[in-house]
Amino acid sequence: LKGKIITVVGSGLIGRSWTMVFLSGGYTVKIYDNEPGQASRAITEIRKQLEELQQAKMLRGNLTAAEQLSLLSSHHDLQQALEGAFFVQECVFEDLKAKHTVFHEVENLVTESVILSSSTSCLMPSNVFSCVQNRTRCIISHPVNPPYYVRLVELVPHPETLPAVMDVAYSLMTDVGQAPVRLRKEIDGFALNRVQYAIIAESWRLVQDGVISVKDIDLVMSEGLGMRYAFIGPIETMHLNAPEGMEGYLQRYSEGMKRVINTFGSVPDFSGEPAARIVKEICELIPAEQEHLTVRRERRDQLLMELAKLKK
Ligand code: NAD
Repeated sequence: LKGKIITVVGSGLIGRSWTMVFLSGGYTVKIYDNEPGQASRAITEIRKQLEELQQAKMLRGNLTAAEQLSLLSSHHDLQQALEGAFFVQECVFEDLKAKHTVFHEVENLVTESVILSSSTSCLMPSNVFSCVQNRTRCIISHPVNPPYYVRLVELVPHPETLPAVMDVAYSLMTDVGQAPVRLRKEIDGFALNRVQYAIIAESWRLVQDGVISVKDIDLVMSEGLGMRYAFIGPIETMHLNAPEGMEGYLQRYSEGMKRVINTFGSVPDFSGEPAARIVKEICELIPAEQEHLTVRRERRDQLLMELAKLKK
């Protein structure tokens, strides 16, 4: 696949991140954005980031920042941007109509073999690709922010997607150093957000019901579960947590798990008095003014970078 061309449509936060990931793998990347000037501004931003990463010895791949930048171009003409591409990564607004417009336009400009991939976080493949004629080459490649340090990509097929298309996307993601997982069928929220929302729901209920503070529930993850989840998942955790492995774990703990799971409450409203209380509590810890949020985001990205190094 090396040396091949990938077109990134939409050059916001995620479009720029995908571009950097593909460049690190030695792919030629052509960025298109329908907002005049946006794609060339994206190149300026990417140049700055690649140079900083090189300075910090955190640049991914075997090429220097300058070599990676030489593979990059921006286009305000979609046809030009798509010329020669084998893979199109769509990164426009999370809006079904915007996705429909883009894929309709793109399909009219590329041959049948070109893979059409969407970055959508929450839209189902059967909705995203409903305006595409040949849906066998359509796939969702859902990244996690920031993809440069958090490598997971969820590959989600449309019901008509060919297995060979999943395989190409899987090889591409592996080749650029991401960690792809395959969903065997589409489901609302894919896998990551379903698990994330289960965690959010229970954390919210525990705070709302006065069991624990906002500060302490976040520590349950960051100082407890999160420590091992950076390396092993929940199923391996079960397997390792009993001397006899998973079967022993089930014998010892399944009754207790079922008892506790049966006490989980209903879907939180995320509104009204409980929400106001939780907003107040988190804002006392981290005020919602940009300056404070920026500091915490920078800290998050710095620590993620260190963790990514450690995982390597
Ligand atoms: P963004 O608002 O930062 O960027 C969107 C870009 O798309 C803008 O530059 C805009 O000019 C461009 N655009 C809009 N319509 C277009 C069109 N018709 N043709 C070409 N360009 C167009 O958004 P983002 O955060 O980068 O999100 C992009 C996609 O990635 C969304 O589907 C989102 O759900 C998904 N995603 C986001 C995150 C995240 O954390 N931000 C994580 C995973 C997936």
